[in-house]
Amino acid sequence: MNTEQILEKLKTELSEKRYVHSLGVRDEAVRMAKLFGADEEKAYIAGLLHDCAKYPSYIEEENKLIKYKPEIDSLTLICRPVLHAPLGAAVAEAEYGIKDCEILNAIRFHTTAKEDMSLLEKIIYVADMTEPSRDFEGVDILRELSGSDIDKAFTEALRQSLIFNLKKKTIIHTDTLKAWNWMCINNRRGNI
Ligand code: FE
Ligand code: FE
Repeated sequence: MNTEQILEKLKTELSEKRYVHSLGVRDEAVRMAKLFGADEEKAYIAGLLHDCAKYPSYIEEENKLIKYKPEIDSLTLICRPVLHAPLGAAVAEAEYGIKDCEILNAIRFHTTAKEDMSLLEKIIYVADMTEPSRDFEGVDILRELSGSDIDKAFTEALRQSLIFNLKKKTIIHTDTLKAWNWMCINNRRGNI
């Protein structure tokens, strides 16, 4: 599938708001890829497709789950908002013809994050929160960090996401906790 076909398909399958968000994440991801030395083409595709399974209807999500049977852990099944990420990786592969594992993993982990995040995965995670249509308390510091230090930006994005979930008294996926501990340990060792 070429870029125009991808855009066309996303436009018909996502809500207007989600489509605009996807374009924003694509642009932010490419900007950061240039700045931090990641593959710009992969950042472009991963940014554009990261929410490809965030369908406006719950039924559509259910249908795709039945159709593609992606590997989904028990916690993700309970954390419904996380589900579109692993499902998105399956849809990107089956319907958009994406074969690249780095792109698919960036889509798969854009909501929970995980230990050992690659540069591209960190970029997509951060871009998802800093793209221009995002507006929440703390976004300014994230945008500032995303212009200078990807590890600091990613750590701050994780911190804000953890606080958000704690305030909502909701489940925090173990991958997110592992990502946080992994960044803290690296930080102490001076790796960041
Ligand atoms: Fe998402
Ligand atoms: Fe998103």
